[in-house]
Amino acid sequence: MSSHSEISLYFHFPFCTHKCPYCHFFVLPNRAAYRESFLPALLKEWELRLPLIEGRKIVSLYFGGGTPTLFIEGIEAILERIRPNCEITVEANPEDVTHDLISHLKNLGVNRLSIGVQSLDNTLLKHLGRNHSAADAHLAAHTAHRAGIENITIDLMYELPHQTLESWKETVERACRLPITHLSLYNLVFEPHTLFHKKQSSYAPHLPSPEESTEMLHYACDHFEKVGLCRYEISAFGRPSIHNSGYWRGREFLGYGPSAFSYMEGKRFRNVRNLNKYIKRVEEGAPPVDFEERLSPLASLHERLAIGLRLLEGIEMEELPPSTEKLLYEIEEEGLIIYKKPHISLTERGLLFYDTVAEMLVLLD
Ligand code: SF4
Repeated sequence: MSSHSEISLYFHFPFCTHKCPYCHFFVLPNRAAYRESFLPALLKEWELRLPLIEGRKIVSLYFGGGTPTLFIEGIEAILERIRPNCEITVEANPEDVTHDLISHLKNLGVNRLSIGVQSLDNTLLKHLGRNHSAADAHLAAHTAHRAGIENITIDLMYELPHQTLESWKETVERACRLPITHLSLYNLVFEPHTLFHKKQSSYAPHLPSPEESTEMLHYACDHFEKVGLCRYEISAFGRPSIHNSGYWRGREFLGYGPSAFSYMEGKRFRNVRNLNKYIKRVEEGAPPVDFEERLSPLASLHERLAIGLRLLEGIEMEELPPSTEKLLYEIEEEGLIIYKKPHISLTERGLLFYDTVAEMLVLLD
């Protein structure tokens, strides 16, 4: 469990040069006018929320989006105000990574780069609507490393239409040769309101079978482990990120910018997913929040359990209510978890069926 005084901050910079057809994040075209109106609003939100972070220890900062490297002025403005000594991650697309950009970020205090590689197969990158090639991704990781960022993570996607086991193996092997400390694996989800979702039925016949998907995952886990990128969370490998580990351990976090989520004092809340409304709210001095939820103590406990179980080491939960214990024993009967009071962790089978475990826990309330 994370200490109460620790807090993580997330900044959502929503600008992208184009919209990838599978992406469900709140993203806007990269127009100078949008960026210019966003910056004062972001700084106003920063000021409005200062009382919430007063006396707290900021342990990680994460600039995501969108493509935060298109909004360097935002990164500069925030880091000028905080000057924290902690993990500072910036997301970047491979085609934007240059030696100058990375040196500049490094001078600002950025010490971790998250590169959206997604695949190292050029045909699949085209299907995904990405603006980079496998060679660009390769070059980006090496450029960042040479420019002095030692802590580099990449994202890879599997279960893609037209993705073969052979292509996946090649991507995994090439990824293993990159100068990275961490890797996140995502299976493609056809999120509502995306172009991929609209075309889902035409993609369905070209998706890997469940058996192939399982083989893809096992192949990746084995190969990553061989190069020291050990799996420590359902979809994460390598040196644990301080920022993401906070989500899994229940650390509080504040999200700035449109659509950003926060979790504080037992409440989850989300900023409005609209730039004009976001700007208007903060100009009026109001929190730009359009969704807020306080979970009951039992629901909150089950959510902690479900999220904490994503970590391979599992979690320790003292004094659980009898109904929760009963459910845990039932899930154990199904071979999905090991429950040795107070320690709970997923089995090999549970790792494959984590969604089922999480659903059983969250639906109990
Ligand atoms: S670059 Fe990233 S944030 Fe932007 S549209 Fe593509 S996937 Fe979404």
